[in-house]
Amino acid sequence: MTALACIGLGSNLGDRAAHLRRALAALAATAGIEIVATSSVYETDPIGPPPQGPYLNAAATLRTTLAPRALLERLLAIEAAAGRVRGGERNAARTLDLDLLLYGALHLDEPGLTVPHPRLHERAFVLEPLAEIAGELVHPVLGASVATLAARVRDGAAVRRL
Ligand code: ADP
Ligand code: MG
Repeated sequence: MTALACIGLGSNLGDRAAHLRRALAALAATAGIEIVATSSVYETDPIGPPPQGPYLNAAATLRTTLAPRALLERLLAIEAAAGRVRGGERNAARTLDLDLLLYGALHLDEPGLTVPHPRLHERAFVLEPLAEIAGELVHPVLGASVATLAARVRDGAAVRRL
């Protein structure tokens, strides 16, 4: 069984472009993961507590045989390898953030894993890159396409395609 999963990538510490590039390479090198598409890179304004710099964000679609929990564990391991330090303030600056946005039409709400990602529909910096590569995918809880959700939160200034 394979599923089409969508991943959001973000970085606002260190060599941001390198963090995104290495994360995509690490995903591509993972057994059971095949990258289908990757978006352009976008620069976006940070929403967390200041002072912190702008983010680079991107999205990727994957074809995977990994179960959702195994995929999340892989994402968290790649974050850790990028030097991500957890336990600080919410929305603090980070070298690498990898979020599981969608996993097919699955709806899952477990401790430590909610799919679709609970804030997917309200974040232009996630929806804009994802809409570029997977606008037709339908959010299984909201019943709206990624393109529709992106249009709802579009903010011309805050998310800039590089
Ligand atoms: P955020 O991405 O919202 O800024 P974090 O990256 O700090 O927050 O994630 C905190 C925790 O959220 C992770 O340890 C993970 O267990 C949990 N989590 C729940 N659902 C998801 C998901 N769909 N994708 C990524 N993390 C998730
Ligand atoms: Mg995260």
